[in-house]
Amino acid sequence: MRSHYCGQLNEARIGETVSLCGWVHRRRDHGGVIFVDLRDRDGLCQVVFDPDRADTFAQAETLRNEFVVRVKGLVRARPEGTVNPDLPSGAIEVLAHELEILSVARTPAFQLDEHASVSEDVRLRHRYIDLRRPEMIDRLRFRSKVCNSIRNYLDDNGFLDIETPILTRATPEGARDYLVPSRTHPGEFFALPQSPQLFKQILMVAGMDRYYQIAKCFRDEDLRADRQPEFTQIDIETSFMDEAGIMAVAENMIRQIFQRHLDVDLGEFPRMTWGEAMRRFGSDKPDLRIDLEFTDIADLMQGVDFKVFAGPANDPDSRVVALRVPGGASLSRKEIDDYTRFVGIYGAKGLAWIKVNDLAAGIEGLQSPIIKFMPEDVVKQVLDRLQVASGDIIFFGADKAGIVNEAIGALRLKVAADLGQVKPGWAPLWVVDFPMFERDKEGNLNSLHHPFTAPSCTPEALRDSPDKALSRAYDMVLNGTELGGGSIRINQPQMQQAVFDLLGIGEEEAQEKFGFLLNALSSGCPPHGGLAFGLDRLIMLMTGASSIREVIAFPKTQSAACPLTDAPGPVAAKQLRELNIRLREQPGTASTD
Ligand code: ASP
Repeated sequence: MRSHYCGQLNEARIGETVSLCGWVHRRRDHGGVIFVDLRDRDGLCQVVFDPDRADTFAQAETLRNEFVVRVKGLVRARPEGTVNPDLPSGAIEVLAHELEILSVARTPAFQLDEHASVSEDVRLRHRYIDLRRPEMIDRLRFRSKVCNSIRNYLDDNGFLDIETPILTRATPEGARDYLVPSRTHPGEFFALPQSPQLFKQILMVAGMDRYYQIAKCFRDEDLRADRQPEFTQIDIETSFMDEAGIMAVAENMIRQIFQRHLDVDLGEFPRMTWGEAMRRFGSDKPDLRIDLEFTDIADLMQGVDFKVFAGPANDPDSRVVALRVPGGASLSRKEIDDYTRFVGIYGAKGLAWIKVNDLAAGIEGLQSPIIKFMPEDVVKQVLDRLQVASGDIIFFGADKAGIVNEAIGALRLKVAADLGQVKPGWAPLWVVDFPMFERDKEGNLNSLHHPFTAPSCTPEALRDSPDKALSRAYDMVLNGTELGGGSIRINQPQMQQAVFDLLGIGEEEAQEKFGFLLNALSSGCPPHGGLAFGLDRLIMLMTGASSIREVIAFPKTQSAACPLTDAPGPVAAKQLRELNIRLREQPGTASTD
């Protein structure tokens, strides 16, 4: 049907007869001549209909936006003065000889160039229109090309692409499962995989040695800003490699992708321990494009009368930190009030600050609601430790460590963005030496990564002091976003049971839930490890898109629904009966046969 894509035509084709297929982007009638911008995946091309060919012209008069047509015509140079330098095909036009209307279109829900004025819900409901926009096409094309490079890289490095089941058992990655009722096993359910974690480990036990999969994962979480209930991972697992080897393969892959697709050299990725990242940035995924850092000052505050600081300074579970922001003295009272409200979202009860208006003027040169509560020499020591300069503002966080880290960590990002202190470019790093566990509010241990992650100590040391134990996990972070993470896995049943015990999963429950894994671990399990990257996030970062929904063809909304298909939806009573499911009385949930 087609000889060329619209966007590929240029001066080189002048004098040729071409066939184009595409959508009517715009029709303009100009003094007896009709111009149609014809659009396809590759771009636009101007088509001219002149009245000499009466039939074709009459047909062209009926064209409306988004009609699908086929045009056969002659490529010719545009008349002087009408060349459009912004368009690859802007120097030529196609004089139509034939026009075939392949499909008519109702008036679209929104014109392609008006997408910004409609809600995201409308864009998602009419995704077939939204995806016609060049920006969306470009992103999906970019995604496709990156996936292709990833496959090639992993294939070149001996990885096998192996599919794992979607209907499976729950895998504990810390989220709620999506469940699928089984018809053939009444009352029983499959879970959709939160990741292929256990299958990829079993593949290592089976001797596959190197596995990868571009895999769909499902997590029924309350959707925070940039999460999707189903998302895509580049999932990798290897045998007989240690952390250094796995990180090198993964780092190299990301480096190559950036080089090839963005012409960016990411260089060698620095490494930082989890402890250092938390201490300096309050985050396990620090954005290293920002220079602002936490400075601990609890030791200086232990003796002050100011309870807000002295309390946390004397509590081992708390932190007192200062964040020096160069140039921040120019912030207005209102801006500081806004920041105070902002840290409140993260549980901070307030936001203390000192403006350094004139360092040379000593205490007189400072402006702050809190210095009156502090001895002058303590204030001075704080200024010295932070090496402040005139024009700085210092923000303080004093609370339980978790709250300080979250609140001041978020403030660090926000202030830097507001004051233009985020350096351009890319800042990758590896975060290593994570703790094995964290404690929840009830004091129970939870895995920081997942329960199959190997500790860097013996089972005995792990049982003795689980709070101190570090894991052999690693995360790749880019510009403050966790791109991927993984670990060396446990390959001994005793160690696996030790971890399960600490997590409160006794032997019986472990057998019931993970018996197949424990059996595999006792059946000749090689040392193995791997990691998984979030493909959607990677593409979002690389394309500069504002959310992962912009790089997924058919994303879900914040409430985990699909406006295009109206999923999830009610099902017929017959289907429920077959599945042995009876809905609780709830108006509107059950439907009729
Ligand atoms: N399965 C892990 C995750 O989804 C990644 C890994 O450990 O390889 O985060």
